[in-house]
Amino acid sequence: MRAVAVIGGGAAGLMAAVTAAEGGANVTLLEQGEKLGKKIYITGKGRCNVTNLCTPEEFRKNVVRNPRFLYSALDRLPPEALLEKLHVWGCPTVVERGNRAFPESQKASDVTRAFERRLRALGVTVRLNARVRSIDTRDGRVCGVTLHSGEVLAADAVILCTGGVSYPATGSTGDGYAMLAALGHSVVQPKAALIPLVSDAAWVRGLMGLTLKNVTLSLVRGKKVLYSELGEMLFTHFGISGPLALSASSYLAGLPLAECRVLLDLKPGLSAEQLTVRILRDVAAAGKKRVQSILRGLYPERLADVMAELCGIDQSKEANALTREERERLVAQTKALVVPVSGTERIAAAVVTAGGADVRAVSPASMESKQVRGLYMAGEVLDVDALTGGFNLHIAFATGYCAGQSAANPAE
Ligand SMILES: Cc1cc2nc3c(=O)[nH]c(=O)nc-3n(C[C@H](O)[C@H](O)[C@H](O)COP(=O)(O)OP(=O)(O)OC[C@H]3O[C@@H](n4cnc5c(N)ncnc54)[C@H](O)[C@@H]3O)c2cc1C
Repeated sequence: MRAVAVIGGGAAGLMAAVTAAEGGANVTLLEQGEKLGKKIYITGKGRCNVTNLCTPEEFRKNVVRNPRFLYSALDRLPPEALLEKLHVWGCPTVVERGNRAFPESQKASDVTRAFERRLRALGVTVRLNARVRSIDTRDGRVCGVTLHSGEVLAADAVILCTGGVSYPATGSTGDGYAMLAALGHSVVQPKAALIPLVSDAAWVRGLMGLTLKNVTLSLVRGKKVLYSELGEMLFTHFGISGPLALSASSYLAGLPLAECRVLLDLKPGLSAEQLTVRILRDVAAAGKKRVQSILRGLYPERLADVMAELCGIDQSKEANALTREERERLVAQTKALVVPVSGTERIAAAVVTAGGADVRAVSPASMESKQVRGLYMAGEVLDVDALTGGFNLHIAFATGYCAGQSAANPAE
């Protein structure tokens, strides 16, 4: 019977351990924390958005780095198959807006419980408070692992599922990168993704607490639009956050900040010409009212004040005194307001870590390293990351599934 050691009891490790055991292996799951699935508990605001029931093409469009690496994994464990498994293991799910699937109970802990039941049923040895220090090799192939306690465990295959470096309190402390580096395995520099953007501009911070709905946020490098989406964003005490800002940050990760710009279209439903017509109509209808009343009709009050300041418009003058130049500046700023960005929040606060095990050195069908035989990888430790919507957890489950299958029954 093949001995398989799985390092890390997060989403990827849980699925890898279950699948390897189903494949007939003698599996030991090693988790450094005091319980399994610590990060799962905080996903989806405690509700755990387990996957997204979209087509494989749509799925890959939501993967920011290395979507093509996932062809085989998504084929072998598509979203429907994951939900079927969870259902059979006692965690029925519901599908909500945007194809997002959640446990029917709305409790993330039920996902972990379902895996725990399955691990028990399969006789997997689960060792908590077991922190792995190194992956051991002999003649270029894996022969086991050594724990921080000094204990050595022999294994025919090792599945590395240690996650990234975000939210380290959940156990993802970056140990996997060090273990890979020690084996001479290529690791792409970890970077923060799905993370709020920091701005030093006083007007941005001054808008703290303001949420904008139905705006378009674009990330542009030179003339190339890297990301552009309609949705919701939020001004905070340090910059901008909310779904649009988080998604943009994933495309920004690793790029030279000085070459990139974040632009807001505050009126995406109107072209510049239509907006001009609207302002002219407002001015004609304003009579003796002030410019301020026009601006407050266009934007939320605090944003109206900021727009007046950025466009150099005196809000106290009568509406019909608004000059053509001022109107043109207003239209230009409304359609492409530059939000100065000086960086991102620290990586520990990122929803996911971009970077990690270089996928060029990993077989996409088996998740086995091309550099170290018998070493498999799954989940966030890989250089694959996606937008919000259940994609990141599904990547962990699907790659864990492939790794578990191949580790138990290698093709050789
Ligand atoms: C706040 C938040 C909300 C999120 N919400 C969602 C969501 O709703 N949907 C979604 O798809 N994605 C979500 N994500 C992302 C998703 O949770 C992760 O991408 C996914 O959980 C990664 O799983 P993983 O198993 O690869 O890594 P992890 O969950 O990080 O698991 C790694 C495990 O390895 C263990 N470990 C590390 N080093 C060692 C060692 N040396 N020895 C032994 N064990 C070790 C750790 O303790 C940990 O348990 C969210 C992330 C965050 C931070």
